[in-house]
Amino acid sequence: MTLMVRQSLRRLILGKAKQNPSCAILQLPVEMILLVFEHLPEYERIILAQTCSSLRVIFIDNYKAREDDRHPISSDRLEVDQRSRFLFTMAYRRPNIFGCHLCTKTHRVNQRDTPGSSTVDYKGCRQPFLTGGDFHQGGYTLQYQQAQLALKYTRLLEEEGNGGPVLRRKYKAYLDSLMQPYSKVLASRKKWGMSNEIRGVVVVLPKIVDGRLLMQTVWVFKKSTKDVSPEAIGWLHVCNHLILFAPQQIRDQTRARMLQGPRGALELAIHASFRTGERKFGSCSYCETDFMILASSERTVVRAWQHLGAEAPLVDNGSWKWMTIYSRESLGFHSQPGSIRELYNRDAV
Ligand SMILES: [Zn+2]
Ligand SMILES: [Zn+2]
Repeated sequence: MTLMVRQSLRRLILGKAKQNPSCAILQLPVEMILLVFEHLPEYERIILAQTCSSLRVIFIDNYKAREDDRHPISSDRLEVDQRSRFLFTMAYRRPNIFGCHLCTKTHRVNQRDTPGSSTVDYKGCRQPFLTGGDFHQGGYTLQYQQAQLALKYTRLLEEEGNGGPVLRRKYKAYLDSLMQPYSKVLASRKKWGMSNEIRGVVVVLPKIVDGRLLMQTVWVFKKSTKDVSPEAIGWLHVCNHLILFAPQQIRDQTRARMLQGPRGALELAIHASFRTGERKFGSCSYCETDFMILASSERTVVRAWQHLGAEAPLVDNGSWKWMTIYSRESLGFHSQPGSIRELYNRDAV
């Protein structure tokens, strides 16, 4: 930066600092403000520059001359992860928009966009060609923007309770529909699915605790013309890693191998509970899932508690990605066994 620019910036900052003595950052020397900029990720520099005209002048003057891929001065030039974080931050306090993880633009909220609804067509979005990994459980579907909006409205409601701005009633109603419990009678399926000689139902119960989105799913199987058994339950998917396979679905060798590793935890617990009649608890070694089985030939209950992450752009939400996208085996991302169940039940009486 030339001496002349530096001096004119200093004059400008001094003027603004006098006008607005409560603005702490403007009380700093220009060099210090530039140091603050240097330490921020690109998307935060752009956001800071948008907060007042003085900071914008400093930012533009300092970076314009050397704008390249490493120093973009407009959000359009940010690389995709930085841009996602930029949009997330810009939408953080605004209930009417969200930063789309698919097309990295902001969209106006559409209240018809609820779990299980047919896909809402956000204007200009490339949604049909991409997927952010939806959360599926027993016929229930939750998309990433729906989960994130539920977390945002819950936070805004808490802020309202602490003296923050009032969240408009239409967003409160929308939050209710985003958090709506879901239930479905399970249909028997010839191939791999539940036998038509037992009956089954699945219930999905979303909940937000401490700014984290949790899901409890409950499968209940009951005796009809035949006893409940692992074979009659057939295929049961708890997470991408814990799956009870129907007997004819996989080869004996594959099953034997699976039962020796962490992926066999669900099946072993089901068999153990049928054998003993006791409750069996377990968890997934590859994602944030806890489960509980209570099995008998009359009635068998499988419960899963899952963590779908906090309010964050998809790029920073490992919990969501490990739950919805990744099925590979990596011990780098899982929760303390039992901790998701405890968190979900924390305020239960
Ligand atoms: Zn979009
Ligand atoms: Zn898992």
